[in-house]
Amino acid sequence: MKILMNTELVSRSDAKVDIEDRGYQFGDGIYEVIRVYDGEIFTLDEHMERLERSAKEIKITLPCSLSELKERVKELVSVNAVHDGGIYMQVTRGVSARNHLFPGADVKAQLIAYPVPSKRPEELQKSGVEAMTLEDIRWKRCDIKSLNLLGNILAKQEASEADKFEAVMIRDGIVTEGSSTNFYAVKDGTVYTHPANHYILNGITRMKIIEACGHAGIPFEEKGIRAEDLHQYDEVFISSTTIEVMPVIRLDNLEYSGGRPGPVTQSLQKAFRNLLPGGNVY
Ligand code: PLP
Repeated sequence: MKILMNTELVSRSDAKVDIEDRGYQFGDGIYEVIRVYDGEIFTLDEHMERLERSAKEIKITLPCSLSELKERVKELVSVNAVHDGGIYMQVTRGVSARNHLFPGADVKAQLIAYPVPSKRPEELQKSGVEAMTLEDIRWKRCDIKSLNLLGNILAKQEASEADKFEAVMIRDGIVTEGSSTNFYAVKDGTVYTHPANHYILNGITRMKIIEACGHAGIPFEEKGIRAEDLHQYDEVFISSTTIEVMPVIRLDNLEYSGGRPGPVTQSLQKAFRNLLPGGNVY
């Protein structure tokens, strides 16, 4: 397997992390997960723009221009013959003696990207999943796709130990998002989700779902959903690059649309797939 290290493609065995890499010591960096369908990179521009934004927000200078990075990612997909799968990319602030303060300008950011297996969870997309709510204990810049994922990891682990697929997080009585997904609720045919502010990651799938809502004629509104109102909604679903549109049929002790994916969620699954390369409709 070939790995992208900064702007070079190298063999997996030659890709090594320094013990003083700031990503390794502080989680001082950012990342992206990108999906490849039928050999085509889905929403590469959007992912690269979000990477650039995350980098800017934490004052990291990317090792090359976005247009060069896009070319390198295309090469990475091509040399590894990725047909259906994913690309993981991360950028850290670089290698420097441990110190909370930023290193000098001579220290360059370290970028790596490599293919990861990713398969559409079709069975779960058809059956729906269960989730539980948990307090959102994360920091107040969840819009940055930071390597620091402790709050997300603890939530996902707690959900998994309770046999739930996802943890849905609540901050000050408002549903923010899942531990690795965006969250939506449907009422009287309208899809509601948290506004794209500092409390959630503005998911690329979320952006595409807004587009899909437009194509399918489904009204869409950004609104803080109150946890205490969750029982009033007809359907609930979550989304991410790897799970696409995933119905949630049970959330805590609430059951939605008779324990089956609801009609609006199903329409959106279809409308979303119509946006994917390679005729991914079923
Ligand atoms: N929210 C969080 C906290 C995430 O970690 C992710 C993806 O990893 C998402 C939302 C969904 O983002 P995307 O659709 O870009 O994968």
